[in-house]
Amino acid sequence: MGGGGGNDRLIHGSADAAQQQDFSKVDVKTTALGKNTYMLEGAGGNVTIAVGTNGVIMVDAQFAPMHDKLKAAIAQITKQPVAYLINTHYHGDHTGGNAAFAKEGAIIVAHQNVKNRLVNPPAGANGQTPPASPPEALPVSVFSDKTTIAVAGQSAQVIHIANAHTDGDSVVYFPEANVLAIGDQGGPDRYPNISAGGGIDGMIAGTEAFLKLGNAQTKIVPGHGPLATKADFQAYHDVLVKIRDRIVKLKAAGRTEDQAVAAKPLAPDIQAQQKQDDAASERVVRAVYQTSK
Ligand SMILES: [Zn+2]
Repeated sequence: MGGGGGNDRLIHGSADAAQQQDFSKVDVKTTALGKNTYMLEGAGGNVTIAVGTNGVIMVDAQFAPMHDKLKAAIAQITKQPVAYLINTHYHGDHTGGNAAFAKEGAIIVAHQNVKNRLVNPPAGANGQTPPASPPEALPVSVFSDKTTIAVAGQSAQVIHIANAHTDGDSVVYFPEANVLAIGDQGGPDRYPNISAGGGIDGMIAGTEAFLKLGNAQTKIVPGHGPLATKADFQAYHDVLVKIRDRIVKLKAAGRTEDQAVAAKPLAPDIQAQQKQDDAASERVVRAVYQTSK
């Protein structure tokens, strides 16, 4: 799920959302990012693909019912199969397509905690625990810190970001194309979305880490929302720091979590700047209060 937008509750988890949404009406929009890389938007998290001469590296796979449409969109670009599917984290709007792509030969790559969470999912924002993923949907190539994946002509640096959106996040950098896919680390007009095992401090540190990759021209594909730049994410980082500082200040002054919420520390300026409402601000104050040191 994404970063604090109004749809987060709807798209959180997988089975619920998949039942609520009519995927037949969704079109996949393909945006060329240069050097045979593309961003695919449909329903669920954004997908990034890097096309080599003997296979495709894919980042995230949206909801399960999107598989055929994503496959068709990729077939418009290349005859090569998806060789690797990297999951940026375990949420169903990014991993729903795992089983179907794996069945067609894709090797699923993810941080070890993605596998753990898919096997033993925590309760979602609606309080319901989604079903465990079937074995065929699980990552078969797991890592703990970083790994590199390659097809002919493309490589992907997969780098773990600790305890940020979740406890199994990765960002994926494609050096040949200077494209960076960051999963649900946030973005312009969003609030930090802190889920299973995530935290505000990890999100800030993680943003600092991935901003060191590439250069000023790097194209950033966020988990949700439009294509972004490093300048966008430097600004987002600075908002994260402001959000944390205001809430930590209340915590340090001895306010309880409810008192911190009542103080509305993000209103009106940060809330307006990120185009968010009171309910979203309350969720962020609680999440930051609970996860900040
Ligand atoms: Zn997510």
